[in-house]
Amino acid sequence: MYDIAIIGGGPAGVSAAINAKILNKSYIWLSSRPTSKKVERAELIKNYPGLPNVTGEQLAWALMHHTESMGIGLTEEVVTGVYETGGKFTLLVGDKDYDAKTVILCLGVEAAKPVEGEEEFLGRGISYCATCDGMLYKGKRIAVVCTDKRFEHEIEYLCSIAGTCYVFPLYRGYEIRAENAKTVLKSPQKYEGDARLKRVIYKGGSLDVDGVFILKSAISPATLVHGLHVADGHIAVDRGCATNIAGIFAAGDCTGRPYQYVKAVGEGNVAVHSAVEYMANAE
Ligand SMILES: Cc1cc2nc3c(=O)[nH]c(=O)nc-3n(C[C@H](O)[C@H](O)[C@H](O)COP(=O)(O)OP(=O)(O)OC[C@H]3O[C@@H](n4cnc5c(N)ncnc54)[C@H](O)[C@@H]3O)c2cc1C
Repeated sequence: MYDIAIIGGGPAGVSAAINAKILNKSYIWLSSRPTSKKVERAELIKNYPGLPNVTGEQLAWALMHHTESMGIGLTEEVVTGVYETGGKFTLLVGDKDYDAKTVILCLGVEAAKPVEGEEEFLGRGISYCATCDGMLYKGKRIAVVCTDKRFEHEIEYLCSIAGTCYVFPLYRGYEIRAENAKTVLKSPQKYEGDARLKRVIYKGGSLDVDGVFILKSAISPATLVHGLHVADGHIAVDRGCATNIAGIFAAGDCTGRPYQYVKAVGEGNVAVHSAVEYMANAE
């Protein structure tokens, strides 16, 4: 079991990982990407102390170089659930899981809100994890909603199991040639059903399906962690970055505005110190 599980590879997660290492705690650091898109895309950054006029690419490289130089490794995976299990936390990652005494959520903010019905039918026909739930749909009709080309191998895996696979590629450069894949160039607008999911509604049509897989690199915090207090789309934290769930902390954009690098790295640091204090008090 790890002392700390850090989710997110942006500035907040980098800062949390560096400080966990410095404070000699065991940790696992997971992120859907090796660096944050929001760092890479910044044209020119003028408010990062000590690095005037740094480009996003330069800052992304500097952050990655810093962790690599300290021997800090990142596990490139999407975390699909965090559950409290008998005094510890279990993180679901594909067909694996990891246990930790504390969790630091450095998730950033998701621009797109969940589609109507997405949270309602999660676990009742909607899944975020191809390898965990794919086999439940052997020979069945499924839809796969994919937001990033990097997940195309998961679409192919699902096509190899399902009878019919309706693919909604929400990105450019879609390349899947499975015989049972039927492409729908629309965005889902609603998921409907009763006890279980029954259909996907999109502009101009609908499809009856047995299940929907939504492959995306970020999951809304309240869906990721059951019972987490989220207010106005942000995880509610105190000054120590503690959430309403004892042992879970949050840092960076996911805790609220201003959306800025230095706030993110500052909170990543604070969250680790709070996690260490929490573990010391729990012993
Ligand atoms: C174009 C642009 C320019 C900007 N310019 C500036 C600037 O000049 N100055 C400034 O201060 N700020 C700037 N910002 C804002 C800054 O980028 C953010 O405040 C900062 O990146 C927040 O860091 P973070 O670590 O909280 O989140 P992010 O950088 O968003 O990182 C979060 C990471 O967590 C990962 N993740 C989320 N959920 C999961 C999950 N379930 N499993 C695994 N991984 C997950 C995401 O994929 C992402 O990589 C800019 C933003 C943009 C988009």
